Amino acid sequence: EEAIEKLPKVELHAHLNGCIRESTLFDLAKERSVTLSHEHFHHQDHQVPSNSSILDHDDPPAARFFNVRPRSLQDCFDIFAEIPKCVDDLISLRRITLEALEDFAKHNVVYLELRSTPKQLHVQSANKTGNYGAEQKKPRLASKKDYCHVILQAMEDFEKDQNQLNLKQEEQRKIANESNAPSSQQGPIPTMTCRFLVAVDRSHSNETAMEHIELAKDLVQSDEYGYRVVGVDIGGNPTKNHFHDFRPAFEVAREAGLKITLHCAEVPCHDNDDDPSNKRVVIAYDEAKSILEFAPDRLGHALLLPPSLQSMLQKSKIPVECCPTSNVMTLELAKDFHGSLLDGMKQHPQLPLWLESNHPVSINTDDPGVFDTDPTKEWRLVQETYGLSLERIQQVLLESMDQAFCDTATKDRIKTQMKLAFDS
Ligand code: IMP
Repeated sequence: EEAIEKLPKVELHAHLNGCIRESTLFDLAKERSVTLSHEHFHHQDHQVPSNSSILDHDDPPAARFFNVRPRSLQDCFDIFAEIPKCVDDLISLRRITLEALEDFAKHNVVYLELRSTPKQLHVQSANKTGNYGAEQKKPRLASKKDYCHVILQAMEDFEKDQNQLNLKQEEQRKIANESNAPSSQQGPIPTMTCRFLVAVDRSHSNETAMEHIELAKDLVQSDEYGYRVVGVDIGGNPTKNHFHDFRPAFEVAREAGLKITLHCAEVPCHDNDDDPSNKRVVIAYDEAKSILEFAPDRLGHALLLPPSLQSMLQKSKIPVECCPTSNVMTLELAKDFHGSLLDGMKQHPQLPLWLESNHPVSINTDDPGVFDTDPTKEWRLVQETYGLSLERIQQVLLESMDQAFCDTATKDRIKTQMKLAFDS
């Protein structure tokens, strides 16, 4: 157990707004007098409370907003829609970014690729009476580029702070060694390297998709942060629109040298669906096939591929970003689990096959806030479900680093750091 917690980890699939801590969401809601939709609240006994607002309570609420029971995919998207009501300005954006980085680093993540959909937020949020400062009558909107800059600057600041802390501890260790005093720390805490993916939301238009790809291209040119922007992603509600519409934008991304990861097969798709009236299933099949044919650098989820597409995936060797808890939740694999995900995980449609066949795969959190998870919990779940040895887990982690979108020198540096930690 403890060994898993200590392992240096790699996180390749995390959506920034889905990382928000529940306590932060409540804080921000309170500050803004936002009433979060009551349907999403559950009391600890899994009942929906009759009281629709948590704002009446000064004590920590007895109800939980985030994940305490399985949720449908639609339910998750309803929750995602609540978050931007609270993360509505650049200040709260910086706060959730720094908290997300802190939370990943706490679980010994040594390499993080965080993704987010650029939004036009207020520079500063309205206060409770709806004013935006004495001199400002109207809210000032920041650009989507500003949105990305806030995230990139937070990564910059976080890494710098981590390095300073490490140097300080190194100094203290030296002094302790010289005076023969017992040292409190065993070796430096691993520093986390952070990279960013610009996300496209498939429920938006293809013009917006192109705008985000152009923004990613533009950000890469920045002397200050360019190296941190390593790729692009498409996600969002999988029942909306079709990859066909977005393909031109991703071709532009590929031409510009950006790495690409695409969410794939999150909803059922069959090649020989018996019921042709089930149009969505047929569209989903067609879409999953065209995503595989596009051959992105990585795939998100790739959960519900029918056998023909599964074998296409196996041949392609495209790495898959697997998100265990999220998969169990959105597929409602363990409808009546009470706090244990293990039963649901045993029914995972693909992960055992990928592990057995050595298909390149990484283990990720997806939305640690919304799914009430973290990298240690994810690895424990996988380890307990499939009985993986520590050596096998280390191998998957090192291979995940090969699937990262950063440059080779960075990958090699981190892999060396990981191997050292495995041997210590
Ligand atoms: P953001 O891009 O930082 O706003 O992160 C939240 C967004 O990520 C959500 O609104 C969704 O568009 C996307 N997202 C989070 N989890 C999933 C998932 O499991 N499938 C598809 N999209 C997701």
